[in-house]
Amino acid sequence: MTAALQPDLAERVGMDPSFNPSACMNCGICTAICPLGLRHLPREVFAYVVLGMEEEVLQHQEEVFSCLLCKLCEVSCPAGVHITENVRALRHYFDRNVFHLEGR
Ligand code: SF4
Ligand code: SF4
Repeated sequence: MTAALQPDLAERVGMDPSFNPSACMNCGICTAICPLGLRHLPREVFAYVVLGMEEEVLQHQEEVFSCLLCKLCEVSCPAGVHITENVRALRHYFDRNVFHLEGR
């Protein structure tokens, strides 16, 4: 069964005013440069946020919390996406929704 889209998801996740995942142009540089080899963060998870795909976002909690916040991806991003700020915003989102998450 396909989960319903949540049009307000980016707004709920992006309480930090620097949250700008929609700037991503999906070039893949961040994925290539990440020392942990994270495959879904940032671009795929950020795209899920922008598209309102909350179920898919919730499936990537481990990756969101494993990020080193090293900024290697961010300094190489040609679109100026605030990657580490976005990861922090996502962590706060998970913190706010952990009860909801565990109740699923
Ligand atoms: S490097 Fe920046 S623009 Fe390219 S996929 Fe990653 S976040 Fe998106
Ligand atoms: S900030 Fe996170 S996603 Fe970006 S390169 Fe570092 S560990 Fe990877």
